Amino acid sequence: MTQENGGFAALDLHPNVLAAVIATGYEEPSAIQIQAIPVILAGHDMIGQAQTGTGKTAAFALPILSRIDPAKRQPQALILAPTRELALQVATAFETYAKQMPGVNVIAVYGGAPMGPQLKAIRNGAQIVVATPGRLVDHLRRDEKVLSTIQHLVLDEADEMLKLGFMDDLEVIFKAMPESRQTVLFSATLPHSIRSIAEKHLRDPKHVRIETKTQTVTAIEQVHLMVHADQKQAAVLRLLEVEEFDALIGFVRTKQATLDLASALEAKGYKAAALNGDIAQNQRERVIESLKDGRLDIVIATDVAARGLDVPRITHVMNVDMPYDPESYVHRIGRTGRAGRTGRALLLVTPRERRMLQVIERVTGQKVGEVKLPDAQQVLDARIKKLTNSLAPLVADAEASHGELLDRLTADIGCSPRALAAALLRKATNGQALTLAEVERDQPLVPGGSSSGPRERSERSERPDREGSRERRAPVPVGEGRARCRTALGARDGIAAKNLLGAILNEGGLVREAIGRIQVRESFSLVELPEEGLENLLSKLKDTRVGGKPLKLRRYRED
Ligand code: ADP
Ligand code: MG
Repeated sequence: MTQENGGFAALDLHPNVLAAVIATGYEEPSAIQIQAIPVILAGHDMIGQAQTGTGKTAAFALPILSRIDPAKRQPQALILAPTRELALQVATAFETYAKQMPGVNVIAVYGGAPMGPQLKAIRNGAQIVVATPGRLVDHLRRDEKVLSTIQHLVLDEADEMLKLGFMDDLEVIFKAMPESRQTVLFSATLPHSIRSIAEKHLRDPKHVRIETKTQTVTAIEQVHLMVHADQKQAAVLRLLEVEEFDALIGFVRTKQATLDLASALEAKGYKAAALNGDIAQNQRERVIESLKDGRLDIVIATDVAARGLDVPRITHVMNVDMPYDPESYVHRIGRTGRAGRTGRALLLVTPRERRMLQVIERVTGQKVGEVKLPDAQQVLDARIKKLTNSLAPLVADAEASHGELLDRLTADIGCSPRALAAALLRKATNGQALTLAEVERDQPLVPGGSSSGPRERSERSERPDREGSRERRAPVPVGEGRARCRTALGARDGIAAKNLLGAILNEGGLVREAIGRIQVRESFSLVELPEEGLENLLSKLKDTRVGGKPLKLRRYRED
């Protein structure tokens, strides 16, 4: 591990900061970190220009933590961030990097929380203050001395702060700090307004600029697939049939999902394993080793568990669940295309996640083209191609070694060589579906297969209507905060609303008020359930039976 952390070790950080970085799992400093850390450590003012997701927080947090004096219980560094969320993020990052520095305290100061405790924490000796400009100015009004001991100031996302109209607040804040302080400004863009702040308030700043945008992702081909949430697993299985991957990492949001998907893949014969935060460290390392040396080909992971994972064999990253933000998307797909190789990143997008797709395209500066779900023909072609590839190299010397045996067997059995070859193929392929009809039966996923987009969605939403024209009715709006769920149990199964209600109340542990309208139709029923905790509830009800039949309640989307 020490060798892998050589990059950070060379940066002259305080040993306790270095230790915390290593504990965090970072292996190499990012480009902005390599350039900015020495400049900030040396005490220079600096203007740093880099896009989101390039690791700017650590670029200033690590050198600043290395330079403060934990023994002095007074504010020494001030970080200004445009929003409460960003301020909290930065404060959390500082806390992480300061884990091994006893006595260092971080306080986040933002609007919407009472001022008293914030001011008290500052006065009680928090060395690091992370604040939004507006709230900080409120504090200055109460106590104009509150920033008088600050020696390091960071303006994080300076362009955003100006866009939000914090210019005047910034001026007030600048005035409240010693002139001798160090000032560091980070911004994705450097419009005129930022340059003039820099001219006025920074002393002889060094410029650090990271040529950005696509640097992390140029070697990676990115595509997305529109899919319904409840068809994800089937879609993954089908995609894997046609993707030619060496090793693949799939990202999901929950620990349970890592287990579910990994075991579904294993059941299909893939060498797959789950990687999540519950898995003990040494077991996790074993999984990664196995992926490296080919004992595993697929790992299904949560973001946390895959942090820092670097396996050159990985040719594919599959975002089975949407990442929470574009940064983690960039991070995830950075698991492939390592060391100058090319990689492929697949993103599964459910209809409600379309907006996130656009955000990702904007942030990465690249189009994430759409692919369709492979149809049965493509699956068949891929299977035959794989079989061809595995057999072709064996043909060359087979006749020499096994030709006589073949003659004898055909004579003994009394069949043609073609018949025998066919029998051997059947054996070799282990009953795998190798005709179109079989593949279609084997993978009854989406009607038509190739239309997984909007068309498919509208087909799905019409499905209840198609089940009987008697049942054609105008859709009723779903109650607020509720999601409509569907079961294939209906009146023809002898089901009444009270049966559904009873089962869901008992097994789901809900109160009556939590359940909205229940509509029982001939061949299916709809139930409105609380949106909050829905996934949880549905998994609780996974094995519930009503009238002896599986309830199989699923979210029902009409969008
Ligand atoms: P920015 O401020 O440039 O948008 P962040 O500082 O928020 O980027 O960092 C983005 C993500 O990258 C965070 O999850 C952070 O923990 C992670 N990160 C930062 N530096 C490294 C590194 N050297 N190695 C691995 N992950 C890193
Ligand atoms: Mg940032």
